[in-house]
This record gives sequence, C-alpha cells and structure tokens, in this order.
Amino acid sequence: MQLVAITANSRWRELEAQTREFEPRWAVVSDESLRNTAQIATSVNSRTEWLWGAEHIESVASHDEVDTVIAAIVGAAGLRGTWAAIESGKRVGIANKETLVVAGPLVMDLAARSGAELLPVDSEHCAVFQALQAGRRQDVKRIVLTASGGPFRGRTTAQLADVTVAQALDHPTWNMGPKITVDSATMMNKALEIIEARWLFGVEADQIGVVIHPQSIIHSFVEFVDGSVIAQLSPPDMKLPIQYALTYPERVDGISPKMDWSTAVSLELEPPDLDAFPALELGFQVARSGGTSGAVLNAANEVAVERFLSGQLRFLDIPRACRAILNQHEFDPSPSLDDLLRQDQWAREETLRWKS
Ligand code: MG
Repeated sequence: MQLVAITANSRWRELEAQTREFEPRWAVVSDESLRNTAQIATSVNSRTEWLWGAEHIESVASHDEVDTVIAAIVGAAGLRGTWAAIESGKRVGIANKETLVVAGPLVMDLAARSGAELLPVDSEHCAVFQALQAGRRQDVKRIVLTASGGPFRGRTTAQLADVTVAQALDHPTWNMGPKITVDSATMMNKALEIIEARWLFGVEADQIGVVIHPQSIIHSFVEFVDGSVIAQLSPPDMKLPIQYALTYPERVDGISPKMDWSTAVSLELEPPDLDAFPALELGFQVARSGGTSGAVLNAANEVAVERFLSGQLRFLDIPRACRAILNQHEFDPSPSLDDLLRQDQWAREETLRWKS
C-alpha cells in the first residue's frame, strides 16, 4: 500500500511527522490560517507537496492516483471530502459516522450511481458487515449494536445530574477524542450508530437493537430469521476495522491484538437503560423519520457537547438540547445536500442559544 495523501485540520506537527515516515504525494492542512505560521521542514522530504485550505481535501480524495479513501475527519466537517471520494467511485472506509447520519439516503444513492464501495470502519458496523456475510440479506431479522455503556453505565438519571467534564472524559475501554468520548458517555454515539446502520445496511429502525456489553469484545451481531446469531469478536482496538476496510475481502495477520483463549473471558450483555440515556431514543426517532432530522440531531449534539466541555451546559442538558432543537426544526423528508447543510447551520445557531 502506498499513502498518496494525508490531511489534518490544524495539527501540522503530527502531520509533518507522518509525512516524514510515509512520504505521501500531498499533505493537506485544512486550516489555511496556519500557512504562514507553521514551520514545515520541507527539506526533510521533497516528495510531499503541502496544500493549505479545506477545499484540497476534496481534490485529493477524488484524485485519480487514489483508489481507497479512509474518511476519518470528526464531525460534519468530514462530509464534503467523503462526498467527493464517493462521487469519484473510490473504495471509502467510513470512520466518520456523521456522513451517513447527516446525509444517509443521499450518500447511499450517490454510491450506487458512482460504484463507490462503502466499507464501515466504525467497529460496530464493521462487525455487522462481517456478520452479514454469513447469510442472505432477506434472511436478516435484525442487527444488534453493542455498546460499552460508557463510564456511567448503571447510573440513574438523578446520579447523572452532577457529572463533571473530567468524569465524562474517562472512558473505561476505548481511548478516543473528547467529542466521541462525551458521545459515548451520553450514549449519543450509539444513537448516531443506529442512524448510520439504518442507512448503511438499508434496514428499518425497528430492525435495529442495542445491547450493553461492557467488555467491548463482541463488536455487534446479526440475528437471522431462524434465530441464529452471528457476532464478530476481537479485543477493543480500532486497528482491526481500519485494516479490514483496507484489505477486504482479504484478511491479513496485521498488528491488531488477538483474543487470548488460554485465560478466562467473561462476556456480559444487558439491555440499555433508556430513561437514564434518553439520547438512544433520539437515535431511533431519527432513524425512523430520516429526512433532515439526522443533520439537525448531529449538529445540535456537536454544539451541545462543546458547550458541555466549556462548562456552559450540564451533562443531562446535552440530550435535552438535542431533543428541543430536533422538535423545533422545519422537517423536510427529502432534502438536497444544500438543504442539509443549511439545516446543520440553523441547528448549530439554535443550540448555541439554547437555555436549559
Ligand atoms: Mg463505534
């Protein structure tokens, strides 16, 4: 494999180190304001051309030299680059769930027209994708997404009222960025994954279930009509889903940790608490209604999480704000991409103003 292009928003130092190691043709920094302040040691590697500005993400993602794109930009900011990769018929490893949450039907339709191959990198969806290979699509009864339950598993609503930012950022099994870690604590992450699964696998909202599995070893499973359940298991580590998207349909040894069956392993599974984690119900609601609701929920959540992290909102305000904005918005059942981006902007402004 050869790395053709690599992108970052502002962390040019990390990008420079990776560029030195992998010598891609292009390195893109989307925050153009850094062009004059970043000290890139271009002499270290003359093969790489540095590009400044978000528009270059789209140009490298759709370039002829590229055949596989891993779309891993966090949040709605990743939408345009992923869109460009799908439009130009690439294999796209989708690590950015927002693309499908915001624009699921449009993205799936675009992929069908361009011939792009969409491979999930989200660990749950990668598991479902693998489990689905055990049977025929018409024999699938439901898809069940597992959830670690986050740091607050087992707490009641009352016990969640005074959660601090530090507590919310302390995840028991996965080491991720602050936005996704908070999403995991509110279980909004699972809500977004319900919506992602709805579009990616073309199943109805009532064919999707969620089960709490604190060990994060069973990454999700598929139930077939005869009652057989096919699951995918591996130690919690994102290297495996990333690798699978890159090598599919082949499997290679790779560097991900493997299960050790020489020691005892306990796997617990329990139903989620929908009262303590109301974000989950928002996920089902949006998966049922579709249209503009995914874009609105996602945008409202991004802003609500930022406001929680900066101390302006309390933990339980996050799903509350999302529900309020979702219920206020002007629903459109079949929006264009521009409509979605407009609704995204509207939802951000409203959530910024929202008071508990
Ligand atoms: Mg996931």
